[in-house]
Amino acid sequence: MILDDPQLSEAPREMIASEHCNAEWALKTHTETLVEQFEQFEDAYLRERQTDVKQVAERLLKQLLGQPGHQPPPARHDVETILVAHDLSPADLIQFKPQQYAAFITDVGGATSHTAIVARSLNTPCVVGLHHARELIREEDLLILDGEQGVLIVNPDKLILAEYKLRQSEWELERKKLKRLRTARANTLDGSLIELHANIEKPEDIVDARENGATGVGLFRSEFLFLNRDELPDEEEQFEAYRAAAEGMEGQPVTIRTFDLGADKQLKGVERVANNPALGLRAIRLCLAEPQLFRTQLRALLRATHYGNVKILIPMLSGVAELNQTLHFIETTKQSLEDDCIPFNREVQIGGMIEIPSAALAMNVFAKKLDFLSIGTNDLIQYTLAIDRTDEEVAHLYDPLHPAVLHLLSRVIATANKFNVPVSVCGEMAGELAYTRLLLGFGLRQFSMFSAQVPSVKQRVLTTSLPEIATLTQKILRAEDPLKIHELLDRLNA
Ligand code: PEP
Ligand code: MG
Repeated sequence: MILDDPQLSEAPREMIASEHCNAEWALKTHTETLVEQFEQFEDAYLRERQTDVKQVAERLLKQLLGQPGHQPPPARHDVETILVAHDLSPADLIQFKPQQYAAFITDVGGATSHTAIVARSLNTPCVVGLHHARELIREEDLLILDGEQGVLIVNPDKLILAEYKLRQSEWELERKKLKRLRTARANTLDGSLIELHANIEKPEDIVDARENGATGVGLFRSEFLFLNRDELPDEEEQFEAYRAAAEGMEGQPVTIRTFDLGADKQLKGVERVANNPALGLRAIRLCLAEPQLFRTQLRALLRATHYGNVKILIPMLSGVAELNQTLHFIETTKQSLEDDCIPFNREVQIGGMIEIPSAALAMNVFAKKLDFLSIGTNDLIQYTLAIDRTDEEVAHLYDPLHPAVLHLLSRVIATANKFNVPVSVCGEMAGELAYTRLLLGFGLRQFSMFSAQVPSVKQRVLTTSLPEIATLTQKILRAEDPLKIHELLDRLNA
């Protein structure tokens, strides 16, 4: 509609005729004028609409320039190429998968943004939020990027280069050794079995999950299947994707999360502009507002339950009314499948993500009504501390060890255990070695992380005795001073 609006299309035509400039220039100049006009609106909502115009104009410009979509420079094959960008969306990264960049660097973004998460799942080092990387780095510069420490070195001298080459080979050696743990069970020293599951984005990721010894899929972020597309996937296509994941895990659990769209993951064609996208129509809220979209996905998911151990996970639940509405929706979808005589597992387990403080604080109702729970620490931290996880300006305040976060975590795990409801952590904390023992000490027995993190977390589990860590974990929970918390954590991990 915006494209058809004479407000956008007529002025550039006139400009081309009168000034003999090219179409791109005419469009760019006119868009700037339009944006200035939007800026004058007093109404914030109308002012915001300038983004729609800008997006349409940008897409049109790309078409005029013969660059449909985001096309990064092709990765070279003779050297390992690092992509340096102002910003990359999760959809951009997913698209780069086959191109195999050696690493990504962005000026903006936070370490638990979905961009960083996808980079991790591609097993590709990534440092985000570097502010001026694009200004300071030149084409052909030699870069060292240490994704673990978040360090970037531009044009290192010989000594530093040699040092990092050594570290790289040591790291690769260590990874190979860890892979030998693939088939070992993740038992603590005192004999408790810990489930280590994988987070995946596409059915193909199952291969990695199995190679790294994951005993199930704890989080399949289904929305990633369908970014970068012009049309919504139909039931059949979704069903095939979910079935492939279910069959690929050969009976081991595959927890598929319903679409968590909105905020930093937008579906083409249903992009929305909100003042606070992370607090807006995201995840289950969007699904309940778009019943057709939700019904199609639920039918596909339920059908896949016939082909493996599929569980359904609902993201971003905040209260009981939303939970009831969702459960009712699932029930009516089941009935529609029965009416169509399509087989599915009626007893499919339905779980909820605990990632909003309200859900963490009012846990009992979720524990009573759901079959399992999964703690999304990325969002739980974001919403508890009011830190936008995609905003590099506040990234330093994003703190998994904040006493408020620790209290919420231990409380959710304890309540779930009290109600005998399986609970896992599937946020980034689950794959970070620094927190493995802490979470075990809180009573967690199920972790879900990127496949590549499974072997090192398993090794940490194998060297942990639950009775030995109990006292220190409680001390960490009682500590108030951040320095003290870090000191105690170091002792726990020593
Ligand atoms: C989380 O919030 O911790 C989580 C696992 O979900 P996502 O990162 O996709 O929001
Ligand atoms: Mg989340």
